[in-house]
Amino acid sequence: MKYLYLLGYPLGHSVSPAMQNAALRACDIRATRYVKNPLPPEKMREMILALRAPHCIGANVTVPHKQTILAHLDELTDLAREIGAVNTILKKDGKLIGDNTDAYGFMQALRVRHINSQGARVSILGAGGAAAAAAFALAQADAAEIIFLNRTLARSVELADRLNKKFPYLALAINDWEALAESQLIINATSVGMAPRVNESPAPKNFAFPKHALAFDLVYNPPATQFLRDAKRDGARAIGGLEMLIYQGARAFELWTGQRAPLRVMRNAAVTALQEIMQTYAPKLK
Ligand code: NAP
Repeated sequence: MKYLYLLGYPLGHSVSPAMQNAALRACDIRATRYVKNPLPPEKMREMILALRAPHCIGANVTVPHKQTILAHLDELTDLAREIGAVNTILKKDGKLIGDNTDAYGFMQALRVRHINSQGARVSILGAGGAAAAAAFALAQADAAEIIFLNRTLARSVELADRLNKKFPYLALAINDWEALAESQLIINATSVGMAPRVNESPAPKNFAFPKHALAFDLVYNPPATQFLRDAKRDGARAIGGLEMLIYQGARAFELWTGQRAPLRVMRNAAVTALQEIMQTYAPKLK
């Protein structure tokens, strides 16, 4: 048996195992399983040993390891190095290669809805791995301006500096909260609003989403976050993180297996798993 690991901590509410195992079954890849390997940051050595074991053929990496794991891998793709975060690990000739499929997943979630970000003014709440992936994808797609709004200023500064090196003509701003009301695309790339803290939003109190805006929450659990509910209340368009999750997972699946990802199977498995997860915490919230 070969294994694909999901590395993160905690991993209780991830739908990736259901989605990836459904894809493996649909493609008749019977001798491989995708399993959670929940290890806290202080267990990095164990994590790398698990990745180097011969039965491991790759991995996904999630919060909180996406950035800290970089230094422990043998190689990085150009994209992972630029974004500064790894969410997918491939093994080639025993080497651990860090890649990033979040940027693809993010952009694909916009593309399938025919949303064109070219020339757009974009506000991104957050400055972690997901924010970096979204920002690099948007810069690549010719967004006009990106404003980072993050709790920790140093993280926004570091991300904006890195983006500026690669895209010197892109307009960038940091913690310009006024710009939020004049943005066409408003992205939640923080973990605020994730289950079980479903009544929280990273947007400022009393913020009214402009009607012309599209609110995109990268959080997928719950599907209707407070951020998205507020956007809809104000007449803005709202999309959740599930499509991004499916597309980043599909790209990772293709990199690991060399086979075309069965998108419909993956979507159905993700939706079913998410519904089951929501049933486990919904009664506790009442
Ligand atoms: P990360 O690198 O750990 O970054 C977390 C971000 O959230 C940071 O900007 C952090 O701010 C901010 N944050 C956390 N708690 C906060 C709070 N109480 N108040 C204000 N800001 C807070 O994580 P990540 O990988 O970027 O992931 C961020 C979110 O995106 C997660 O919810 C994750 O599930 C989601 N995501 C979704 C997909 C998808 O496929 N849909 C893919 C990737 C990520 P500081 O810098 O101040 O700590």
